[in-house]
Amino acid sequence: MLDFTQKMYHQLCQAISKAGYQTTVMGDYFDTSESDKPRLMLRHDVDRDAGLALEMARIEQQHGLASTYMFRVVDSVFKPDIIKQIADLGMEIGYHYECLDKAQGDYTRAFEIAKDDLAKLRELAPVKVMAMHGNPLTKWDNRDLWKQRDFKDIDIAVAAYLNIDYKKVRYFSDTGRSWDEQRGNIYDFVGEQPEHALKTTPDLIDYIGKHHQDTCILIHPNRWSDKLGKWFYNWAYDTAGNTVKALIKLIR
Ligand SMILES: [Zn+2]
Repeated sequence: MLDFTQKMYHQLCQAISKAGYQTTVMGDYFDTSESDKPRLMLRHDVDRDAGLALEMARIEQQHGLASTYMFRVVDSVFKPDIIKQIADLGMEIGYHYECLDKAQGDYTRAFEIAKDDLAKLRELAPVKVMAMHGNPLTKWDNRDLWKQRDFKDIDIAVAAYLNIDYKKVRYFSDTGRSWDEQRGNIYDFVGEQPEHALKTTPDLIDYIGKHHQDTCILIHPNRWSDKLGKWFYNWAYDTAGNTVKALIKLIR
């Protein structure tokens, strides 16, 4: 079976719902710290193709899971109808910000953009979580904004890269089309994590079924399609992206 398809995603969701985790949306991260079961958070960064995010949310709903969809506020992704439908399925909506990129490094302007973007999202659903979007080809790290501004001032409670303790929360990401953190991953890497060296989604299913611990899994919906054309497009995009990122890592 091809990996990174909706069929495979069904299998992952089924495994998660059977494995005895407390699935938790990111906004509840601090409120559920006393949970007696290990928590599992599904985080989605909607970088492209909001339609695939909606399809993914429907799969999760079928398996009784709730997750967090972080939306970029750019024309190609910000689709109010789709965002509302995802929220109506019981999913949490978050903010996938790139305001320092948008403001070309101007911190004052970037903070205003963050407020405007959040106002647009909050017309559709409550938003109290955010995660940075990384544009590998720009020179800014969007997280740097929060060295000068406080995200609590814009009513954000959970910032994926800033106030979650990944020494306690195990983190997996599909970035670079592999669950192995060491590869093809400049921005989505959260720092020190034990090396799992998981490659495929069946590896991940096996691992989380055997090792119970608080877990966050980052999944980009645009990567998971059953349509061969989209699947190959994303495969080619990821393969080219991995090469570019490997070169950037070499140069830095
Ligand atoms: Zn992103």
